Amino acid sequence: MAGEPQADCLFCKIVAGDVPATVVRETETTVAFQDINPQAPSHVLVIPKAHYPDAASLAAGAPEVAADVLREAGAVAEQEKVAGNGYRVVLNTGAGAGQTVFHAHAHVLGGRGLNWPPG
Ligand code: C5P
Repeated sequence: MAGEPQADCLFCKIVAGDVPATVVRETETTVAFQDINPQAPSHVLVIPKAHYPDAASLAAGAPEVAADVLREAGAVAEQEKVAGNGYRVVLNTGAGAGQTVFHAHAHVLGGRGLNWPPG
């Protein structure tokens, strides 16, 4: 069923506490943790606790949680002290766009200059 934990999902395991992560924020519906392979001085992932494979399916199936993820992305940027100089929220969607974990997540990147267009 939509939103239910998936046994083979790495981020569901992080939500359950079965895989370790450096959690920086948590709400009733979301978890934010340090990316293990940071692409900027500050690189945090915000995920919904519910399992949806990508941001679009999250927004369609649980729009209030999608809003929670975006609100938390902003809160992470403030907490990480990167909001003032600008930061980027990235929603890689599909393997061709670089998505490797098929549980919705927002990358929050900051702490350096960020070029546009991205690679
Ligand atoms: O957008 P994409 O699916 O590629 O992002 C997945 C992210 O999850 C990567 O940036 C990767 O470094 C991160 N990751 C993590 N902890 C894990 C496995 C992957 O932070 N245990």
